[in-house]
Amino acid sequence: SIMSSLPIPPPGCLLQAFPVPQRLMLGPGPSNVPDRVLAAGAQPILGHLHPETIEIMNQIKSGIQYAFQTRNRVTLAVSGPGHAAMECAIFNSLEPGDSILIAVNGIWGERAAEIAERLGAIVNTVVCPAGGYVPLEEIEQALTKHKPVVFFLTHGESSTGVVHPIDGIGDLCHKHGCLFLVDSVAALGGAPICMDQQGIDILYTGSQKVLNAPPGTAPISFSERAWRTKPISYFLDLKWLANYWGCDDKPARAYHHTGPVSAFYGLRESLSILAETGLENSWKRHKEVAEYFHKGLEDMGLKLFVQDKNARLPTVTTIVAPPGYDWREITGYIMKTFNIEVSGGLGPSAGMVLRVGLMGCNSSKANVDKVLEALADALKHCHKSKV
Ligand code: PMP
Repeated sequence: SIMSSLPIPPPGCLLQAFPVPQRLMLGPGPSNVPDRVLAAGAQPILGHLHPETIEIMNQIKSGIQYAFQTRNRVTLAVSGPGHAAMECAIFNSLEPGDSILIAVNGIWGERAAEIAERLGAIVNTVVCPAGGYVPLEEIEQALTKHKPVVFFLTHGESSTGVVHPIDGIGDLCHKHGCLFLVDSVAALGGAPICMDQQGIDILYTGSQKVLNAPPGTAPISFSERAWRTKPISYFLDLKWLANYWGCDDKPARAYHHTGPVSAFYGLRESLSILAETGLENSWKRHKEVAEYFHKGLEDMGLKLFVQDKNARLPTVTTIVAPPGYDWREITGYIMKTFNIEVSGGLGPSAGMVLRVGLMGCNSSKANVDKVLEALADALKHCHKSKV
């Protein structure tokens, strides 16, 4: 023991190891990280501007351009979670007093509205019930009425389990002189989206969902017309970030912040897996596995929260909370008995659903069989009241 005269001694809990258990991560994220990606992240630390780091960042950029299907020069990974990309997207495209239109079909539209409000923007929303999406005609009416600078849409609404149709919206936005901003944190790589072809001006995702990289980096891309303002945030200023990622015309990269290099190694490896797999194969697998899961759930007598089959998000499934049960007991039982994470609802679906994520390497029929078995066992053993 170390003799010390300091008033606060070293905490005893830190003087022993803390082994982290293995767990099957079938909630809405983070998902499991393959050994290959974990190993990449365990490599030696290099400087955030060393040539090898810059080469890795350039490869990440190419990987994001592939994953997003974009040729945008300004394509990079924000150092931070999905929320950092969300703020990066909104801060760099909107100024105080600007008008933004937000499609709200779950918690992510609500959060985007709050971020835009804090910035002093004029926020209008088109709202639809949880489990649905906003029809094209309603979007067009709202664009005509509110004349926004930016239209925000969540591609994969992880709170409700809906994949929002994208086709046609980009053209509408551009017809109305508005930027099209899409959150695909929960869907990208698992549900089709093609940034350039679909006229998306700003698109972002997270590392910890379909990409199966550790949480903490967030791929993002901006079209040339989307890069428009000097944001309130120094850390999220796209001018600085674009320079750090070599996306501008400047001959050299300058120090802006210390990039999380270990997280970049992991992200590079996860994009490498996606490149090997192929986007179309990944989309196809997620769809097939999700359909196999949905059939299994219905065969068990469980109900899916999203009625429209085509609107079911292949990465995150929402199951109507089984009547008579306490959903917390079910998720707790599955964690304790099977060491599998599944989660309850969030925002507008809180208390109403169970959410199961099958993302990236976790999207397999073997995992579906495991989670179906766990659910069936939970329904047998958890307390059921008379309804
Ligand atoms: N958008 C969507 C659709 C999400 O599912 C999430 C994460 N659940 C986020 C944004 C925020 O990402 P993060 O938790 O990494 O900040």
